[in-house]
Amino acid sequence: MELDYTKLYKGLGIDSAGPKTHQEQGAAFFTAGHMGDQINDRLDGYAARAKMTRRDMIKTSFGFAGILYAVNEITGMRFFDVDEVEAREPEAAIERAAMHGGQLVVDQHTHICWRKDGYVLGKNTTEKGMWFVNLLDGLGKAMGFENGIRGMTVENFGKEILDGSDTDVAIFNPFGFRESYGGKDMVPIEEQAEVKQRWPENTIMLGGGLTPNQGLGETLDRLEMFVKDFHISGLKLYTFDATPQRGWWMDDEKMAYPIWEKCRKLGIKNIGCHKGIPFGQFSAKYAHPEDFDAVCDDFLDMNFIAFHSAWPYHAELAGIGKGFKPQRTNMYCELGSTFAATVTNRPLECAHVLGTLLRDIGDDYVMWGTDSLLWANPQWQIEAFRKFRIPDELVEGHGYPQLTDEVKAKILGLNAARIWGIDVNTKKIMA
Ligand SMILES: [Zn+2]
Repeated sequence: MELDYTKLYKGLGIDSAGPKTHQEQGAAFFTAGHMGDQINDRLDGYAARAKMTRRDMIKTSFGFAGILYAVNEITGMRFFDVDEVEAREPEAAIERAAMHGGQLVVDQHTHICWRKDGYVLGKNTTEKGMWFVNLLDGLGKAMGFENGIRGMTVENFGKEILDGSDTDVAIFNPFGFRESYGGKDMVPIEEQAEVKQRWPENTIMLGGGLTPNQGLGETLDRLEMFVKDFHISGLKLYTFDATPQRGWWMDDEKMAYPIWEKCRKLGIKNIGCHKGIPFGQFSAKYAHPEDFDAVCDDFLDMNFIAFHSAWPYHAELAGIGKGFKPQRTNMYCELGSTFAATVTNRPLECAHVLGTLLRDIGDDYVMWGTDSLLWANPQWQIEAFRKFRIPDELVEGHGYPQLTDEVKAKILGLNAARIWGIDVNTKKIMA
């Protein structure tokens, strides 16, 4: 989550360290947002009825179902497929939670956030760089990583994402911005590669930190090194950067097209880019997605993935999607942080974002992502998504498609399986 959670979740306590269940981690976001007091009041009622405390209740599926039911009640709209019995009887909630599952889950957007020599202000980290480190550190502590950002490691990637959730395959993304981190990528590829070495069948590694403003020749050399020495499967780039130029565009024929041409030669077909969620000191201008339009047209044999679905500029992305440009078959978007930040605090916005993407970009092109470990264990997001629906009023009033089980299966895994070569039956990377 690159957005400033301290503003979005004013009630998120960062001193409540200690291991938490995934339901508790999700509950922390729902109850720290602006609906928090109303949700807690209702939870107190549900807990009392089941002769439990709220604190114990929120550790369980019963507590999580209660939260989702409370959101339906507070908003007066059916955002979640949760019935009253699930907020009344723990057994019913547990039974319903177990009913879902079985589908392929591919998380398009995951991270480790720690490197071995750490981030030391004045030594290998600038003040701008420290802003992001501190953001992740506080978030990690609030989510139960006792050592904050130091807990966002390779070890915990396996524990929380691969073992601790229904995620079958996790695609992991680098952080670059070496100007802010002592001339070395925030998460260097050598350290990232440990994830791939440990879980080769269940992870896909993306290369990143490629910034043409650092010099195009050097950028192309690094790309080649990523492919030849580290066997990356795709790219995740940032068009805003920490250089004096502040950013670049993917449709720049001089600065960017040589990168895509080289990718083509090296066999790299899937290019992701952070869009939307302008953060910290970076230039928001370069978080707009309009450069996807020309690059998608000019490199039809490659796929371009807008990370975060460019939220809050998702409507711009949708405006160059299939709904407006029927020829478009290579523009994808993913939901990392966008789903988590809206579903917990602004469910109406969440429904509009998903509805807009599905209507104008299409259900074959929207992919699941959670941005974990930034949001800790992703299981609560998976469960919230399985229960999420676009209320009938919005389907009728905005022409949004229904978020059916079939559409959810495509989003959760089938679309990603198609472009990344994941076997739908074994749920592993195809050899
Ligand atoms: Zn991310």
